[in-house]
Amino acid sequence: MTTIRPRWHPPRNVRSVITTRQTGNLATHVGSADAAIGHRQRLVKAESIPQDPLWLEQVHGSDIYVAGEGPVPSSPPVADAAYTTQFNRPLAVLVADCLPVLLASPDEVAVVHAGWRGLAKGIIGRTLARFRNREVEAFLGPAIGPCHYEVDGAVTSAFEGLAGFSRGRDDEHFMMDLWAIARLQLARAGVKDVAGGGVCTWCDPQFFSHRQDRVEARFAAVIWRDGSSF
Ligand SMILES: [Zn+2]
Repeated sequence: MTTIRPRWHPPRNVRSVITTRQTGNLATHVGSADAAIGHRQRLVKAESIPQDPLWLEQVHGSDIYVAGEGPVPSSPPVADAAYTTQFNRPLAVLVADCLPVLLASPDEVAVVHAGWRGLAKGIIGRTLARFRNREVEAFLGPAIGPCHYEVDGAVTSAFEGLAGFSRGRDDEHFMMDLWAIARLQLARAGVKDVAGGGVCTWCDPQFFSHRQDRVEARFAAVIWRDGSSF
């Protein structure tokens, strides 16, 4: 099973994985739930992930689930970001065009599902507000790029100004750059070290694309603090 190792430089005990089309669909709410659970189990084994990641019920909102010491909840929490200080507590978001953002400091990790709605609601800044340690590094995963993501005024009006947007097919349409907007929001929150970005899910056949594919499927971004690497 092929996965991508994000190229970034988080603290040494932080592990992260981006899955691909070859990993299979990991979402239980689209396609076959049984198949998705099988894909998840294979992913955990192949990547030596310490346990099944915390999967979220993502609603394009701005709530952050804080994973504490207790057991993983039996049903996925409704949230679009997850945060933890715990070791061996993998966190995941499911995407297919929306932007997955990985965040890590020496004391904690988080993962964010950032589509245009989440970005407009400030989910990146809200997640960073949880961080105790301000030395945060970020990685921007594969998402639909400004080469293929056309939106209209209903989207741009949710943002202050047009930073991250360029002209689309006419005056009423815009090409949206999720990475550029995420970078602006990270910079505003004081995060200087940002890696990744630039891999378009529409252009790169390794990744599922909600807008391009006929079949609904999601890939995942997973992050955890490895408790064995001291
Ligand atoms: Zn593209």
